[in-house]
Amino acid sequence: MRAEGIIFDVDGTLAETEEVHRQAFNDTFARFDLPWHWDRSLYRRLLDVTGGKERIRAYVASDDPPQGARALDLVLELHTAKTECYTELVVAGAAKLRPGVKRLIAEARRDSVRLAIATTTSLPNVEALLAAAFGSDAAKIFEFIGAGDVVPRKKPAPDIYRLVLDEMRMPTFACIAVEDSRNGLDSARAAGLPTLVTPSVYTSHQSFPGAMAVVPDLDTPPVSLATIAKWRAADSGW
Ligand SMILES: [Mg+2]
Repeated sequence: MRAEGIIFDVDGTLAETEEVHRQAFNDTFARFDLPWHWDRSLYRRLLDVTGGKERIRAYVASDDPPQGARALDLVLELHTAKTECYTELVVAGAAKLRPGVKRLIAEARRDSVRLAIATTTSLPNVEALLAAAFGSDAAKIFEFIGAGDVVPRKKPAPDIYRLVLDEMRMPTFACIAVEDSRNGLDSARAAGLPTLVTPSVYTSHQSFPGAMAVVPDLDTPPVSLATIAKWRAADSGW
């Protein structure tokens, strides 16, 4: 069955952005004179918490780092500064699209398959990435971008996907989601969406029960609309 809409996650799915996020967090901590450094293994653990503000709070609660209380008082400023720093890095081209993303999106546009985004990252982050990756076409590609704090509960809750489906006025069965993480998969599945998973640097150790398909990336093997239709037909009777 043909998918009429594809809803993409951003971080780890459209691009391997988490390394850029990590760099932005660390640059921000230095700017605020916080003696913190998030290395890859620590960041991998912190990624279980979605949302930047929530991630800082969770780090203070679990690791009791120096100046934790001051950081909690500053969490909104920290998050704003981190978002600005991330945006600067992305505008400078630090986050590249993952293999096959541009090709599948081009095929979808040619075939009038509708495209949207469901992410817990902030809207400025998303817009910066799309502008750097797609240039002047960016605003035309995704008809709706569900981003950041627009819903009360972040992934793995289904709220962001439900919002996007409402905004597109699309029935669940007509769409699929593309995700890279267990949190994202659980969110999309809870909204009722068949979900294609392309695990990223920080999620390749996770398991993905209930995924429609799991492939290393959208070029391995090359994922087309026909591939997706075949997977949907095989996935619990779509
Ligand atoms: Mg993700």
